[in-house]
Amino acid sequence: MSKIDRPAFEAQTRLPGLSYDTIRQVIRARAEEHDLPLLCDGDSEIRVHTTYGTYGFRPDRDASLVQITSGREDWLYILKESLSHTVSELAPDVGAAIRWSDAAQSAGNLPPNFQFITIEGVTRIPGGFLRVTATAEDLSQFTPEGIHFRLALPPTDLVDPQWPSLSDTGLTLWPKGAASLHRPVYTVREMDMASGHLVFDIFEHLGGRATEWARSVTPGTKVGLTGPGGGGIPEVSDLAIYTDETGLPAVARILEALPQDARIEVLFQMTDPVSLDYALPSHPGARIERRPAGDRDLADQAIADLDGAADRMVWLAAEKLIAQKLRAHFKSSGRSAKDHYIAAYWSRTADSAAEG
Ligand SMILES: Cc1cc2nc3c(=O)[nH]c(=O)nc-3n(C[C@H](O)[C@H](O)[C@H](O)COP(=O)(O)OP(=O)(O)OC[C@H]3O[C@@H](n4cnc5c(N)ncnc54)[C@H](O)[C@@H]3O)c2cc1C
Repeated sequence: MSKIDRPAFEAQTRLPGLSYDTIRQVIRARAEEHDLPLLCDGDSEIRVHTTYGTYGFRPDRDASLVQITSGREDWLYILKESLSHTVSELAPDVGAAIRWSDAAQSAGNLPPNFQFITIEGVTRIPGGFLRVTATAEDLSQFTPEGIHFRLALPPTDLVDPQWPSLSDTGLTLWPKGAASLHRPVYTVREMDMASGHLVFDIFEHLGGRATEWARSVTPGTKVGLTGPGGGGIPEVSDLAIYTDETGLPAVARILEALPQDARIEVLFQMTDPVSLDYALPSHPGARIERRPAGDRDLADQAIADLDGAADRMVWLAAEKLIAQKLRAHFKSSGRSAKDHYIAAYWSRTADSAAEG
């Protein structure tokens, strides 16, 4: 029996002022965009199934009711957060009025997808990366569908770090001001679920707060981790990968996981020549090209390759403008990006542009 038939966790909220017709349109569009199955779609109910559980919406006079069910408490929380985010973008007043039915019992707790990790050590590995080894409390949520996480790093000079907690309406309260947490995304490079052993690789770049943290952190330090989120290992047999350094740990996971008969073309465009030496696992069907940054960026290259390989999945991890360029191309050429992975892994700021 699937999780959908026997949900262990459930939460509801009213969305005051948000009509059923409006939310139904939004859910239909999301389901279409992310290829999610609609379990029913009628005048009295729409239900959509996701990797983490099921959303159901019903009309309630001038409002809508939403019920979320999931097989795991942390997944239920991820779905609640995602809905709050969507609704707040659509109608901030409605987002602020969300009151989750299970909020009272969890008020004051850490969010269910938050855990502490204890740093064991940091070593410099070839390719300009810092390899961080840590012990996590629970890695069971990190499946091939979810290989990324966020660190939650308090300011290094803060003697008494603060951590997030759940409010009495079920929202997450993050420390603010001088106690704000830096929350960059990383990829699980290696893990052992039984022991909690976790390894991730941080690309060293100028001005990076995570880089600075990793250079000075001492064994035994506890920091926060939330996740998973941000995608996983694609289940395909024909894949074209376009990446800079930030995608290399994920590419390594993909090369390790895809079957021997898969065909994988990797174009790795370096922002720094030192990254040439980052070790990628061998795969019999993979062809890996390492190239310095040039006139043609990763989006241009992916666009140039698209016409020759319409059925191949495109996987791109790069700077935000490059990811946006490829997404815009998909849109303007009438192609759906639904079966592809196009992700902004970092954004160049005025500071980083000046640094080169
Ligand atoms: C799904 C996902 C998975 C990721 N996995 C990894 C991973 O496994 N390893 C990894 O190293 N990164 C990974 N990243 C990228 C990482 O989250 C970003 O590079 C992040 O900005 C790093 O935070 P920071 O604290 O180092 O830099 P910040 O303090 O956030 O930024 C400081 C400055 O550094 C610049 N900057 C940020 N990233 C880079 C870069 N790569 N090169 C040059 N300048 C940069 C910014 O523009 C800014 O000016 C991943 C991102 C995503 C979305």
